Amino acid sequence: MILRNAKIVLKDKIIENGWLEIENETIKSINEGDTQQEGIDLKGQWLLPGFIECHVHGGYGVDFETGTVEAYQKFGKMIPKEGITSYIQASVTNSKENNLKYLSAFKEFMKNQDENSAKCLGLHMEGPFISPAKKGAHELSLLEDPNIEVMKEFIELSDDNVRIITYAPDMQDGSFTKFLLDNNILPSAGHTNTSVQDFLKDYKIGVRHLTHLFNGMSGVSQQEPGLATAGLYFDDILCEVISDSIHIQPDTLRLIYKIKGPQGIVIITDAMNAKGEPDGNYKLGNLDVIKEGMKVSLKEGGALAGAGATYDHNVRVMLKEIPNLKMNELIYMTSINIAKQLNIFDSTGEISVGKKADLTVLDDKYEVNKTFINGKVAYEKSN
Ligand SMILES: [Zn+2]
Repeated sequence: MILRNAKIVLKDKIIENGWLEIENETIKSINEGDTQQEGIDLKGQWLLPGFIECHVHGGYGVDFETGTVEAYQKFGKMIPKEGITSYIQASVTNSKENNLKYLSAFKEFMKNQDENSAKCLGLHMEGPFISPAKKGAHELSLLEDPNIEVMKEFIELSDDNVRIITYAPDMQDGSFTKFLLDNNILPSAGHTNTSVQDFLKDYKIGVRHLTHLFNGMSGVSQQEPGLATAGLYFDDILCEVISDSIHIQPDTLRLIYKIKGPQGIVIITDAMNAKGEPDGNYKLGNLDVIKEGMKVSLKEGGALAGAGATYDHNVRVMLKEIPNLKMNELIYMTSINIAKQLNIFDSTGEISVGKKADLTVLDDKYEVNKTFINGKVAYEKSN
């Protein structure tokens, strides 16, 4: 297949007018200029590596807690319209028996993913190993300290499909962190009140990922420097950023970008099941929440509870709010950084010969026009 007349976004440059050749699901050649060969005319639109979302609970009426193979499949089919080509399904804190139920369905789903759907890479468990002090919308009575034995059960029940764990590093002695790394699970510090000094023990062991920077964590303070301080300070920590301009105001977003640069940020949605659905009442786990526009909050108390924005929306906010942000800087935050973090960069995450043709086409308003997964059209905007 040929994709022609495209502005191709590579990590070190942008080809203003180029064409791409795809064969057997992979990128065969990247070329400047035009071609006489027949192909899909992208009409001068942007061609980017597909977005990889590492923290999304759900959308379109589906979430992990919906708990059926069909629901998970539906979600995978819907999100290419946001430009997403790969994703990690996130869970909230659940009871033991519910986890048992959901994980066994999720295990089946992982073996039965549809073609033309975004590729699910596994599960991001956000809880139960988080701190009551920064529990956010998680249910207090279900929280527990990081526990290797419980973790072993999760790994077994999911058929080794847990890829990321959000946990409070200050609630364990480092052994849990080591266990995650030894089992190829990405440890992500979050929902914690840890101090920088306490976090250093886990940074030294190898924690290099932060769950939604600033949200659900100790912050930046001259007297009590917390996890956000460490996340901003260490260049090699990748910070998840919910760039919906609700969870992080634009002035703070610019400060984060100024300090971290494109290589230190991964854009996420943290979206819950109401994403893409009308405003109204929904459930986040067992909790009652209200969706108003892109904002989702707890019915009781009004705290933010997950998010309602789509991935492409958060990309547009980034492009709007960060002065002079270039497209080849953007792709670090949507694709390259997280592909490296998840050890899949040898096969996807950038437009490069030999990698999978996982591609997103954006129009001049940065709206998703088409999405390709393994070289096939997974989404096409209707006119
Ligand atoms: Zn989350």
